[in-house]
Amino acid sequence: MAEPIEEIAVSLAKARHDYQAAVAMKPIAEAAALADKVRDLTQRLSSAIVRGANACPDCENLPVGIQQPAVIRGQHVSTFEVGCVVCHDHRAFGLTLDDAVANWNASKYLPRKAS
Ligand SMILES: [Zn+2]
Repeated sequence: MAEPIEEIAVSLAKARHDYQAAVAMKPIAEAAALADKVRDLTQRLSSAIVRGANACPDCENLPVGIQQPAVIRGQHVSTFEVGCVVCHDHRAFGLTLDDAVANWNASKYLPRKAS
């Protein structure tokens, strides 16, 4: 069964917090284990976000997904981005997960970042 994104995101936020606290206070091995947990949850969240997304049309790698907090009209919301780690100009945005994946699958990319 598909793992709910909000659940992963909450676990990830907690793991990041635990890691930040451990870096300052705990032995390095303990902090490293918490860093592994952050990496694992980041990966799981990405996989959950890109469920239903096609491979990159140019390099055929599977895209990665990120969830980003935003404030829209005073409301705290999550926005989503699906992108290719190889083709940096292939990044699709969505106010919802479905929009981000739909934009990605339709090759509707964000404007290229100014360099
Ligand atoms: Zn690509």
